[in-house]
Amino acid sequence: MTAATRAECTRCGVTTHTLMLPTGPLCSRCRRDIAYHPRVCPECLELRPVAYPSFTMYNVLVCAACAGEHSVFACAECGREDHPYGATRCARCILNEQLTGLFTHPLSGEFCDELRPVFEELMRARRPQSVISWLQKPPATGARVLGQMARGEAPISHDTFQHMPAGRSESYLRDLLTATGVLQPYQPAIERMERWLDERLRGLPVDDAQLIGRYARWHHLRRLRSLAECGEVTKPVIYRARSNVIGAVRLSAWAAREGTTIALLTQPQLESYLAAHPGGRNTQQGFIAWLHRSKENTRISLPWRSFTPPEVVVSDSERWDSVERLLHDDTITLYARIGGLFMLLFAQSLGSIVKMKTAQVVLEPDGRVLVAFDGTFVEMPPGLDTLIRDYSQNRGTPTISGRDHGWLFPGRHPGSHLVTDVFRSKLVTAGIHPGDARKAAMFSLAGQVPAPVLADLIGVADKTAVKWAVLAARDWSGYVAQRRL
Ligand SMILES: [Zn+2]
Ligand SMILES: [Zn+2]
Ligand SMILES: [Zn+2]
Repeated sequence: MTAATRAECTRCGVTTHTLMLPTGPLCSRCRRDIAYHPRVCPECLELRPVAYPSFTMYNVLVCAACAGEHSVFACAECGREDHPYGATRCARCILNEQLTGLFTHPLSGEFCDELRPVFEELMRARRPQSVISWLQKPPATGARVLGQMARGEAPISHDTFQHMPAGRSESYLRDLLTATGVLQPYQPAIERMERWLDERLRGLPVDDAQLIGRYARWHHLRRLRSLAECGEVTKPVIYRARSNVIGAVRLSAWAAREGTTIALLTQPQLESYLAAHPGGRNTQQGFIAWLHRSKENTRISLPWRSFTPPEVVVSDSERWDSVERLLHDDTITLYARIGGLFMLLFAQSLGSIVKMKTAQVVLEPDGRVLVAFDGTFVEMPPGLDTLIRDYSQNRGTPTISGRDHGWLFPGRHPGSHLVTDVFRSKLVTAGIHPGDARKAAMFSLAGQVPAPVLADLIGVADKTAVKWAVLAARDWSGYVAQRRL
């Protein structure tokens, strides 16, 4: 770079240290100004600091390259003019130096290869300036933690974050490590469950705490993690896992009062626990089965342990009450009445109901109404047929797009069907809980139809249908009574 001499800047008129350009002396403030505000060079049409006289055009300024000059705006290290930053070097070169320093062990001088993807990702940043300020500006969590990891003072794992506040810069850093593949993806919900578990296990007898910890981690958390990989962790799934763990914790507390532990629990003891806590049977089912499988305690068992029984919380009479209500209560929105009846009578899920097409419904001239849930048309029972007929004739208004996309239950947005949640809330308002209603219907159907037919009709795997059938073959009125304790 041309040495600075004291002169009057041709651009701003201030007399100070200047650099010599073909146009005359230029002060450092003006140099900075031009470097930070690149313009389109009239010759190469690139965004560059433009301050050099053109060879070919009179009185026109172009970039240094087009003028065939050495650029006073270029980085002294890499020669590039983009990302001006310091007095002589660009932001990219400064960032490179800072990150290299951060990721290199001060004693061994070795670069931490495990963190290299993070280094590369940060170096690829569109604005290296922003990365520099992220590294420097308080709280500077990124620089601090990355440095500790690189020097081996903190493990390069999610554990490092377990004991940190869940602040914005912490989670930014964690996302960065995850996005670059340095750390496995993590699930905040599962992590909260881990913390919750630690709290629940505190205060239990050591043996039981370890045993329930294994149950929670090996059975529930592992399952939650694999669900998380497909993005299928929902609140109910987590709540169910928690309630199973709570069940185990309760059993342990009871066992402790009886002077025993879960591993030593006998069948008569388990039965006396269940007699005193009949509601606990449901959550104990999975735990007791696990105790068996994992050989932690093979002396105790619970009936129906071959599978977790589907919970049926709606009795048949309640189900028929709901059917009656939907058939006759005109205050309930028509589509909700029809959808609810599809659920209660044909065990259709809300998810498949909202996606039904008008082509799945046929209005016969003789008054019969046929609906195909699974490809085969079945005749609708009296009452429901009238509702479907009324609805089909008045469904009328397709969405504002004006085009009918053929949804049986069109939604508000062009080309969309009704949203599951809208449907659900209508049914809940009418006193019907979709999940329970469907289960009740499946349960009842399972008693009447062979499993493969049931599987087709309700769109579930054969195996599930068989489970339902097995269950329905039992005296399930007693079963329902037990559930509802
Ligand atoms: Zn100036
Ligand atoms: Zn140019
Ligand atoms: Zn540079």
